[in-house]
Amino acid sequence: MKLKTRIHLFSTLLMLVILSLTNIGIYFVFEKMAYDTEYNQLQLQSMELTQSFSKVNKKMDIRTVIGAYMPANGAIRVYDSAGKEIAGQDTIGEIKFYKPQFKQGDRYIIEKFDGVPVLSLRMPVIWTNGEVAELHMIQQLIDVKNSLRTLTLILLGVTLIAMIPIIISSIALGRIITHPIEKLIATMSQSRKAGTYEKINIPSNGKDEMGQMATTFNDLMSQLETNYNQQEHFVSNASHELRTPLTVIESYARLLKRRGFDNRDVAEEAVGAILSESVRMKEMIEQLLQLARNQEQMKFNFAETDIYEQVDKTLQPMRQAYSREFLVEGISPAMAVTDGEKLRQLLFILLDNARKYSDDVVKTIIEKSDGGFTISVIDYGNGIPEDALPNLFNRFYRVEEDRSRKTGGTGLGLAIAKDLAEGLGAELKVESIYGMGTTIRIYIPKQRILTEF
Ligand code: ADP
Repeated sequence: MKLKTRIHLFSTLLMLVILSLTNIGIYFVFEKMAYDTEYNQLQLQSMELTQSFSKVNKKMDIRTVIGAYMPANGAIRVYDSAGKEIAGQDTIGEIKFYKPQFKQGDRYIIEKFDGVPVLSLRMPVIWTNGEVAELHMIQQLIDVKNSLRTLTLILLGVTLIAMIPIIISSIALGRIITHPIEKLIATMSQSRKAGTYEKINIPSNGKDEMGQMATTFNDLMSQLETNYNQQEHFVSNASHELRTPLTVIESYARLLKRRGFDNRDVAEEAVGAILSESVRMKEMIEQLLQLARNQEQMKFNFAETDIYEQVDKTLQPMRQAYSREFLVEGISPAMAVTDGEKLRQLLFILLDNARKYSDDVVKTIIEKSDGGFTISVIDYGNGIPEDALPNLFNRFYRVEEDRSRKTGGTGLGLAIAKDLAEGLGAELKVESIYGMGTTIRIYIPKQRILTEF
């Protein structure tokens, strides 16, 4: 069943139940009030009758007295202590066949007789012979029955008339709720069919929950579109970057096949190029895998860590591998809550760049700042042109000169560094003077600042 129909049925049924319960309540309150009024009148009448009985003594007078107090449709009967009728009178009609079924303690009862409610009450009376007798006064409530029937008809009529606006408003309610959802579904299926990221038009007054839903949907679509475009861009970049070394490898392999077996110099050149390109490709694939892992949220293990120790640990293998001077100075120990392993990974990328793009000493300085620490990696190399700075952390970005120069590198290192820094809650800042050198600073907060997603 459609949501619209469900809302419509539910609200109509609910209103019908409320209306019926109200009407049933009104009916019973009215019925009780009508019976009470009739009872009070009959009781008053019977009390007057008993008083009149005490004033008469002849049989003739009793009949006259009873006649004077006769209810419009009913009977008056007097029974002696043995239960025998000693006086009485009935109005014309079936009522003479009716005998009220009083139970022990009942002063009055209302029973249905011949489809009409009958009110009967009883009370003791001192009979003319001085004995105690029982007076029964019986009255058919024909007027009450008619009033109740009229009331039933009025209430039914009111219910039927009230159902018209109820049905109309429940249909309108169903439409109000489902219309934006239908629009959303239509846009979604259009997006799915066309493979595009369609958005919903939000009316200017769309500040309610439905408007919020549409805004959220549009935001989601924009995010999906951006992610998709980034992904596409990344894949095309990656395949382009991988194709370059493969082309080099392929062309040198062909050269090797054609002339390499006769000419040792050609063979050496080809094997050298193939080897260096394979190494570059391997490095690029490893970095690509790392970036893919970064996207799936790397697992960070935060603990109290000595930053100085982490810098030193990173520098040791570098000092051994390259005959270069790597200096470290600053606070020791420098304690902060961070992930030591991921910090070393980040430091390695920055130190390796400093080494690749300079020939002089590489310095690392650890200083206190804003309750945390700043690690500055300083080199005195080429520096970075100012216009290149904003793109530095983009994937596959390399400064033009370095592309042509044979420094090696993939343009992925700083993109990975950015992901790592984000995960560590750290900040990266680059300062560079072209031709003089570069300083990259990592600001590590004392406590990790959790980023909200
Ligand atoms: P790559 O693998 O090419 O080093 P990165 O993402 O690590 O990739 O760096 C991107 C580019 O930024 C490098 O190609 C280089 O042009 C420039 N770069 C990074 N660090 C430095 C530095 N310390 N000095 C000069 N240029 C740098």
